[in-house]
Amino acid sequence: MNFKKLPKIELHCHLDGSVRPETIIELAKIEGIELPSYDIETITNIMTAPMECTSLNEYLEKFEIPVAIMQSKENLKRITYELMEDSAKENIKYIEIRFASLLHTNKGLSSEEIIQSVLEGIKEGEKNYDIKGNLILSFLRHMPAETIYEVIEAGKKYLGDGVVAIDLCASEDKGFCEKFIQPFLLGKEYGYKVTIHAGETGIGENVLDAVQMLGAERIGHGIHIKNCKEAYDIVKEKNIVLEMCPTSNVQTKAVDSFEVHPILDFHKDGIKVTINTDNRTVSNTTLTKECHVIKDNFNIDLDIYKNIYFNSVNAAFIDCQTKENLKNLLTELD
Ligand SMILES: [Zn+2]
Repeated sequence: MNFKKLPKIELHCHLDGSVRPETIIELAKIEGIELPSYDIETITNIMTAPMECTSLNEYLEKFEIPVAIMQSKENLKRITYELMEDSAKENIKYIEIRFASLLHTNKGLSSEEIIQSVLEGIKEGEKNYDIKGNLILSFLRHMPAETIYEVIEAGKKYLGDGVVAIDLCASEDKGFCEKFIQPFLLGKEYGYKVTIHAGETGIGENVLDAVQMLGAERIGHGIHIKNCKEAYDIVKEKNIVLEMCPTSNVQTKAVDSFEVHPILDFHKDGIKVTINTDNRTVSNTTLTKECHVIKDNFNIDLDIYKNIYFNSVNAAFIDCQTKENLKNLLTELD
């Protein structure tokens, strides 16, 4: 199977984890931002997590440099555009980009300016390449729940015009969902869809909470439902879609190795799984590479790939017509 050529869908991709190292160096020089080095190889190494990360927290440290650069409208737009470009070049036909807008206010940008700049990058990418994109607004779980409202309000007017969902991400403690019930309830009322990072680092119960308390329709990773029967059952019964990111899952120690990744077992048991990159730069990956990793370890055939592709299309936060068009891209290959 030539995965690069096959149409692909990306539902879980962090903007700040997918910045080109060349762009970081170029923009840092223009703006006089100090970097530990201006050598491409060194910066790439600093921005990339090793396969032997000790934890999710070590993985998360890799976001510091890109976030420092992503503090102006122009930079946000350019970096988003480049992500659209990189994705389109490997035949990703639809991407949902996510980012925590509150990390981009250091130089005085408002939430609305931040969201708008990223949306402009997406639209520019759509104009020049055969790819569609939408935006998910992420929130860091360790930030106070009250800070979310401002972003939910700022993103509201872009619902249906590029903004589709809200998400919680970063370090995962047990029981994190409860304090976010109110803002997520409001978000749902406004029309945001909900996806939540949960069950990534050992706590399957968080997936149950994310579905029951926050109304998650999709779960980022969800690996550890395998250790929590109630979470497993609710994911299966409610067709909650898992956004799995194989390389990242190994790096963050969500799984010990690719061979023991539960993606195929879940799929065989009827759970809706999808394949994603998480972070193109931090995980030094592409969606083509992630598909290969799954093929190499589990010997999936084209039929299984199609099933997973259709899971992604069905779970995408888009209208029925766009779903139909995306499905046709793959069925036309028959
Ligand atoms: Zn993620």
